[in-house]
Amino acid sequence: MIKVEYSYLQQQFADPDPILESIKTVVATGDYTLGKPVQEFEEKFAALIGTRYAIGVNSGTDALFLSLKALEIGPGDEVITAPNTFIATVGAIVATGAKPVFVDVTQEFTLDPQLIESAITSRTKAIMPVHYAGHPADMTEIMEIAHRHGIQVIEDACQAIGAQVDGRTAGTYGAAAGFSLHPLKNLNVWGDSGIIVTDSKSVRDALHLLRNHGLCGRDEVKIFGYNSRLDSIQAVVGNHLIQRFEEITETRIKWAQTFDRALASIDAITLPPRRPNKRTVYHLYMIAVERRDELLVHLQQKGIEA
Ligand SMILES: *Cc1c(COP(=O)(O)O)cnc(C)c1O
Repeated sequence: MIKVEYSYLQQQFADPDPILESIKTVVATGDYTLGKPVQEFEEKFAALIGTRYAIGVNSGTDALFLSLKALEIGPGDEVITAPNTFIATVGAIVATGAKPVFVDVTQEFTLDPQLIESAITSRTKAIMPVHYAGHPADMTEIMEIAHRHGIQVIEDACQAIGAQVDGRTAGTYGAAAGFSLHPLKNLNVWGDSGIIVTDSKSVRDALHLLRNHGLCGRDEVKIFGYNSRLDSIQAVVGNHLIQRFEEITETRIKWAQTFDRALASIDAITLPPRRPNKRTVYHLYMIAVERRDELLVHLQQKGIEA
């Protein structure tokens, strides 16, 4: 019987030696915090997404929380987001003191641009679209609405490294975007890590302070901040994996297309719309079915985790 597992971490890291060798150099130099590996990963990540800057932090959750803080979102403000997301999207908004406001999603699982405007009030400070399951949100429409109302956009791109819409990479649309490098995400390291991208120097400068106690030198503190640095050892793992990232992404897309072809003719299954203007990176492969719970039991009995 073929077994289809929910994750393949053991297989992915079956040969950890090249990564462990690089970690040895970090140990030999004692360069554990915000050193060379972190800077190297930030440069590579910014180049991968296509932004001027990338700022490594300690989780995807902090990537969203600190982005909101850097854009001065806090108590009294409202942030529009999607209800079908991992709890951390909403948790990051609530942690700033702002109020999350939910707008429903399209068949592609992402914010429905047609419903956003009716949720905007005088308190709306930002929209946080979630590129759910690797499906990029309708960013051209969302940015147009945001500009018209003078609202910031911060993208939750935790599930969507490498996704594209209208020829632009997810994460390059908003004032900032947060990504997760959690072991179960598409670009995964050996623990918790996250990264933020932005084109704005002032947002980058604010994030450098926020992630490192507000320190702007060894003894000088500008603001009260947090301890949310990207670990050097995780950055080493990231530097190895980022070289293979296009290959990892293309493999996911290829398998999703294989599933699509195989499932398209089954009446009880509805595939989400596949848009020619979007590159979906399939963090998850999702379908709509009429008898969901029965199908889940059936799949599990057949050794297919779902
Ligand atoms: C994983 C995830 C997060 C949080 O990332 P962590 O690295 O686990 O903190 C936030 N939003 C979404 C949509 C996620 O999938």
